[in-house]
Amino acid sequence: MNRFAALLLLGAALAGFPARAETMLTGAVEQGSLVVGRAEPGAKVALDGEALPVSPDGVFAIGFDRDHGRSAKLVVTLPDGQVETKVLAVAPRAWQIQRIEKIAPALVTPPPEAMARIKREVAMKAAARPTDTPREWFAGRFIWPARGVISGVFGSQRFYNGTPKNPHYGVDVAAPTGTPIVAPADGIVRLAEPDMYFEGGLVFLDHGQGVISIMMHMSRIDVKAGQHVHQGDPIGAVGQTGRATGPHLHWAMVWRAAHIDPSLLVPGVSTAGAASGAAVGGD
Ligand SMILES: [Zn+2]
Repeated sequence: MNRFAALLLLGAALAGFPARAETMLTGAVEQGSLVVGRAEPGAKVALDGEALPVSPDGVFAIGFDRDHGRSAKLVVTLPDGQVETKVLAVAPRAWQIQRIEKIAPALVTPPPEAMARIKREVAMKAAARPTDTPREWFAGRFIWPARGVISGVFGSQRFYNGTPKNPHYGVDVAAPTGTPIVAPADGIVRLAEPDMYFEGGLVFLDHGQGVISIMMHMSRIDVKAGQHVHQGDPIGAVGQTGRATGPHLHWAMVWRAAHIDPSLLVPGVSTAGAASGAAVGGD
């Protein structure tokens, strides 16, 4: 605390006002956004009735799914028992419609013999998404994990071979196979699998408190589960593995169960050193 702030607090205390800072939120509250909160140390935080992890110095993450409703309720309980309630207006966004043709039918609707493998991989992925890692790496600035052309944006409603599918929960960076992928922020590798049915080469990077980066379709993986990587460290390379129609990185992010738009966390668009841009991602 600087001297001026200390004097202000002293003045507030002398005037009989509570000498505390209100909970601060950094980041736009909108569908797909991740917001960093800072509360008084020792505070407890709940969003929409769900208790959340908070660092010892009061830092916490809140996120808003692509399909989050128009408002959210943040309740902060201060160490002295006082309760601060904020009703947040969650700005809605408009989503693109994207049609992807010429995907192998077996990858759009997996054949029965693939179901056991898919089920096993779903369990593996669920187990690699801790929601309470006591780290706050998500609170710093993120960088683009790869350079290339943005060929798919977060949230678009996709039609594969004319059939509506799940929304696109990531940003696609089209780049030649072998283009380096780096860690967008510090994290702990939670999953490093070279051959998943849908995702191909897949890496989960845990940035703390349930904020996880998901990198798909990698041609090469240079990290192992459990490894701590720093922002900018190489983690592998762009590829076309799994359900992909061209070489690209699919970068998704989650906060707990919510799908987050990674492009809201990084500056501008990653077109420096761009590839041809002809490749379009499948997922
Ligand atoms: Zn994608």
